[in-house]
Amino acid sequence: MITFKDITKTYPDGTTAVDQFNLTVEKGEFMTLIGPSGCGKTTTMKMINRLIDPSAGTIYINEKPVSDYSIDALRWNIGYVLQQIALFPHMTVQENIQVVPELLKWKKGEKEKRTDELLDMVGLDPSIFKKRYPSELSGGQQQRIGVIRALAADPDIVLMDEPFSALDPISREQLQMDIDKLQKDIKKTIVFVTHDMDEALKMSDRICLMKEGSVVQCGSPEQLMKHPKNDFVEEFIGNRKSAWLTSVQKVMKNDVPAAHDREPENVMTIPATSTIEDAYAIIQSVNQIDFPVVDDNQKTIGIVTRDELLQYFYQQEKEGASVL
Ligand code: ADP
Ligand code: MG
Repeated sequence: MITFKDITKTYPDGTTAVDQFNLTVEKGEFMTLIGPSGCGKTTTMKMINRLIDPSAGTIYINEKPVSDYSIDALRWNIGYVLQQIALFPHMTVQENIQVVPELLKWKKGEKEKRTDELLDMVGLDPSIFKKRYPSELSGGQQQRIGVIRALAADPDIVLMDEPFSALDPISREQLQMDIDKLQKDIKKTIVFVTHDMDEALKMSDRICLMKEGSVVQCGSPEQLMKHPKNDFVEEFIGNRKSAWLTSVQKVMKNDVPAAHDREPENVMTIPATSTIEDAYAIIQSVNQIDFPVVDDNQKTIGIVTRDELLQYFYQQEKEGASVL
């Protein structure tokens, strides 16, 4: 879907922000660019929709160099969420969401329908929020509008540059969950920038760890955690390995809903002997909300959900507790 081929960007003052950068983002993938401040994440992202042009190399979208697309077509087909909340203050929520559909000359009915649908998607009642102005929203609500505005014209690609960094922890978590849910439903190709490894581990299909404008290691959260390529990766990941090896029973709810209190059929189960790592692999493999944990006799002894598993995992890490 998006391919960076030997991309280098040197700014006029001589700063090389991106240096021989190579990466392919697959269709429908949630790819996170992460790395220390100044490592070139924002520059890399802005070259996708040509807010910045590379000094050398080529970026392809669907095998066509981005320089062969018209800038308008590119910008309209790529949603972009900025770090700072960037709604137009004199426009209502509805008008903000409809900026790109307006440019694309959508019919009024189509625009309205899409606006309602998007507000519903992030849990904001259209009848209440459509007519409000940004100043009448909380920071978290404004940033949610920023996210759905980027999705308004149904772009194939969405770029998000540290979209949560201005938010308090609760709004942040809420929006992370919203985006996670959106991504499950709509499967956009998302390039997400953060410097927060917890966030990256929680949300990404793959993580591209950058240093000084180049890729240090790119892989799934598990790959980075299990096989860090060098000390830099290891340090960036932090000491998360032990949490990964904890028994799944630590995150299991013991009260089994009646519906599950029987030998599960056509349901993916997690063996009670699994580690969190094993459970995570199972949970990622199918589209199922909760997972019975079963003993050797296939009897359900508890339930695990994906959200609970991740929640527990990151909580432990934040507290720095040894969970082994
Ligand atoms: P990140 O998003 O990872 O923090 P950036 O892509 O913003 O990194 O910046 C990468 C490097 O390029 C930094 O050293 C930064 O100071 C430099 N840089 C960014 N924008 C410009 C610019 N317009 N002119 C000169 N240097 C820049
Ligand atoms: Mg940046």
